[in-house]
Amino acid sequence: MPILVMKFGGTSVADLDRIANAAEKVKREVERGYDVIVIVSAMSGKTNELVNWVETTSPLYDAREYDAVVASGENVTAGLMSLRLQEMGVSARSWQGWQVPINTTSAHGAARFMSIPRANIDAKFAEGFRVAVVAGFQGLSAEGRITTLGRGGSDTTAVAFAAAFEAERCDIYTDVDGIYTTDPRISPKARKLDKIAFEEMLELASLGAKVLQTRSVELAMRYNVRLRVLSSFEETDENSGTLVCGEDEIMESKVVSGVAYSRDEAKITLFTIEDRPGIASAIFGPLAEAGINVDMIVQNISEKDYDDAHTGAVTDMTFSCPTNQVARARKAMEDAMAAGLIKYDDLIIDTEVAKISVVGIGMRSHAGVAAKMFEALAAENVNIKVIATSEIKISVLVDRKYLELAVQALHDAFELDKA
Ligand code: ASP
Ligand code: MG
Repeated sequence: MPILVMKFGGTSVADLDRIANAAEKVKREVERGYDVIVIVSAMSGKTNELVNWVETTSPLYDAREYDAVVASGENVTAGLMSLRLQEMGVSARSWQGWQVPINTTSAHGAARFMSIPRANIDAKFAEGFRVAVVAGFQGLSAEGRITTLGRGGSDTTAVAFAAAFEAERCDIYTDVDGIYTTDPRISPKARKLDKIAFEEMLELASLGAKVLQTRSVELAMRYNVRLRVLSSFEETDENSGTLVCGEDEIMESKVVSGVAYSRDEAKITLFTIEDRPGIASAIFGPLAEAGINVDMIVQNISEKDYDDAHTGAVTDMTFSCPTNQVARARKAMEDAMAAGLIKYDDLIIDTEVAKISVVGIGMRSHAGVAAKMFEALAAENVNIKVIATSEIKISVLVDRKYLELAVQALHDAFELDKA
C-alpha cells in the first residue's frame, strides 16, 4: 500500500479534543488506502515546561539527561494518538525513537539522523496494522541513549520518515493553512501560495517564516520529498495548503514568490581596517569562535587613507548578526584588536535595523528585480543601509521603523497579491 506521512505539531495535539480531531484526519487517509506514518510533537507548551524543569533542577545539566526528560513530551502524544485511533477502529501502534530505531549521532540536544531502518515498522504494516504513530524530535545514539534533534525537530523527523519509507507525500499539519507571500500580520494582502520550490522555502524558512524547521526543508530537497503544509483546524482535502516541491512541478512561477523579513538584526561596522590578505579571516575567525551567526557581509572597495597614521590601503567592513549577539560580537572584536589581530578606528553598532528580502527562483532568468525593489523602497523614502544578493534572493537592511512600510511596498511592487 502507498505510504503517507502525516505530522501534527504541538498546537494540533494540544489537548485530547485536538488529538481526536487529528486522529480523524488520519483515519480518513487510511480509508483512502494509505498506510500512514504519523509523527507527533509534544502537546504545545510541554517541551518548554520540560526544558524549564531541567534547567531549574540543574543549570549546567548533563545533556544526556536533558534529552531523557525533554523527549518524553512526544512519547505521551504518540501513545494517546495511538489509543485514540484504536478507539476509532483503526489499527495503530505507537513507536518511541529507540523502538524503530531512529539512529542518530550522539550530539545531545542537536542530534542528526544516521539511519532509520524500515524493518520493524514494515513488519507491523505486514501484520495488518495501518498506522504507525512515531514520537517526533527524538532518536537513539550509538551508546544506546535517547537523543533529541533540536527545537522544532519533529518536522525533520517527518521528512526523514517520508524519505526512508518512500512516502507519496509528507503532510505537515499546523496552525496556519499554508505558506504565504509574506506575513499576513504585516500585509493584509498576503496570499497563500499553492506551490513553492524547495529553494524558495529554504530562504523563507531561514528568514523567519517560522512554519517549518529549516533542516526539514534541506532534507526534503535532498531526498525530493514532497512536503505539504496545511491546517489541522480546517476541513482539508488533496488540494489544501501549500505544496513545497521541486522546481519541475512548478509550471510558471513568478519572478518573486515572497517577501520575508527579520526584525532582530543588528549592523556592525569596523571603520578603517587594513586592506590586506587575511583581514577578513582575522575578523570573522574570532566571530565564528564566539558563535556569532553572521549573516550579511559587505566589504567596501579599498580606499587610500592619507592620514599619517595609516599609510597603506584601508577599507571598512560591515556585517549583520542577531541583536542578542551584539554584545558578544563587540567583545570578540575588541579582544581581537587587543591581541593585535586586527586594527580599526571605530566600531559602530546599529541595533535598530531590520532585514527585508525578496525571494524567487524566477530571478535566475529575469533581469531588473533589484532595480524594481530599490525603486519601490525609494518611492516610500526608505533608505537602504546594506544590500546583499544571492541567486534567488535580494536582501536589504533598513531602519526597523520602516519594516512594515517596506514589506507592504515590495509586496505591492511585485504584485504578490495576484495569483
Ligand atoms: N516538541 C519539540 C519542540 O517544541 C519538537 C517539535 O515540536 O517539533 O521543539
Ligand atoms: Mg514546529
